Amino acid sequence: MPSSTPRDLLIHARWVVPIEPRGAVLEDHSIVVQAGRIEAILPREQASAIPARQVLERPAHAVLPGFVNAHAHAAMTLLRGAAAGRPLEPWLRQVVWPLESRLVDADFVRDGTEQAIAEMLLGGTTCFADMYFFPEVVAQLASDLGMRAAVAVPVLDVPTVWAATIDEYLDKGLRLADEYRGHPLVHTFFALHSPALSTDATLARVRTLADQLDAPVMIHLLESADDAARERSRHGIDPVDRLERAGLVNNLLVAVHCVHLDEAGIGRFADVGASVVHCPTSNLKLASGIAPVAAMRAAGLNVALGSDGSASNDRLDMLSEARLAALLAAGATGDAAAVGAAEALEMATLGGARAMGLDAGIGSLVPGKWADLCCVDLGKVSVQPVIDVLESLLHSASRADVSDVWVAGRQLVEDATLLRIDTASLRARTNRWQSRVLAARNSLPGN
Ligand SMILES: [Zn+2]
Repeated sequence: MPSSTPRDLLIHARWVVPIEPRGAVLEDHSIVVQAGRIEAILPREQASAIPARQVLERPAHAVLPGFVNAHAHAAMTLLRGAAAGRPLEPWLRQVVWPLESRLVDADFVRDGTEQAIAEMLLGGTTCFADMYFFPEVVAQLASDLGMRAAVAVPVLDVPTVWAATIDEYLDKGLRLADEYRGHPLVHTFFALHSPALSTDATLARVRTLADQLDAPVMIHLLESADDAARERSRHGIDPVDRLERAGLVNNLLVAVHCVHLDEAGIGRFADVGASVVHCPTSNLKLASGIAPVAAMRAAGLNVALGSDGSASNDRLDMLSEARLAALLAAGATGDAAAVGAAEALEMATLGGARAMGLDAGIGSLVPGKWADLCCVDLGKVSVQPVIDVLESLLHSASRADVSDVWVAGRQLVEDATLLRIDTASLRARTNRWQSRVLAARNSLPGN
């Protein structure tokens, strides 16, 4: 294409934070977007000569890759605030599972996921890895709204409203994976709830299918201090050993939480190129503990960040997860440089893309990758002065400072306003769920 052909979009930014190479900050640079992808990142004076159909000036802003929320249960946003003050097991058994059994259907998942996508986009998240029931509803909605999503085939050895048997889970899931193969926005993977809820036969079947499809396998692992002991008493073996015996400890493994993963486990995961998703807010709120993220990174393990569901967070805010991850790593190790701003922002973007096997297309600003972009206004009073752009992004800015968001070159947020979501309709639906969730929660024993 000759250079005189107008490009789709040209963004002149005060700063571009490409994430790769780590720590890079490009001042007075411009991003050229063509056909949904990043065509070039150039000094402004060079880019100014390029004709474009849309030219945007962002004179006090930093443009970085959209955040990748590597572990969400998006529809659980409708349960926000419904289960406070309990650790993991009572939280699950006394509140979350009973509420889900009363409330979850395709409409719950559609409305809850739309609410979650709206919140995530406004905070600069452009991709989420979702683990929930009715994944076909999540996939369709993400595609309709222009959001990027990695949608799990959930596999549980317990019957739920979505599937009664392992065969049904896998049949439905494989149809979903088939339907979205090659889709530009929607990707699929396998999700096992936890070792405790998976038989050896199920672990083996998922391993075989994941290998065939080259799809990630996500699993909640060593979230609470009781998990390892419970697993040993039930199966007579450590959870990591059990996953290894099933052949699941490999580069497709995405182990969520790993609050209580020991040094040997960290080393084994690092050796095979597995990934860990760190969910710092959820781990604190459920009193699970603090994952050894600094040790994981020092071992060369890929660490991504996740919000987890809103029933244990209660926000889908990747910038605050990244900040908390950096602060916790410093506080837990006594090393103020344990996880720096560059590393925390990398975990929130490229780390998630790597975990989900999507880093060839997203996670950093590199020509040829999708134009999944987040633009943060660093001109606000609360951020001044900007001495170090990465420090300001991580520690001074907040999601309220996200001005614009694009997914695959399509603008979904402009001037902190959603462009493709009918927020009045969404609000009316969440209001109805608010009443239903409240009534259901009040009907639970002990509430
Ligand atoms: Zn989770």
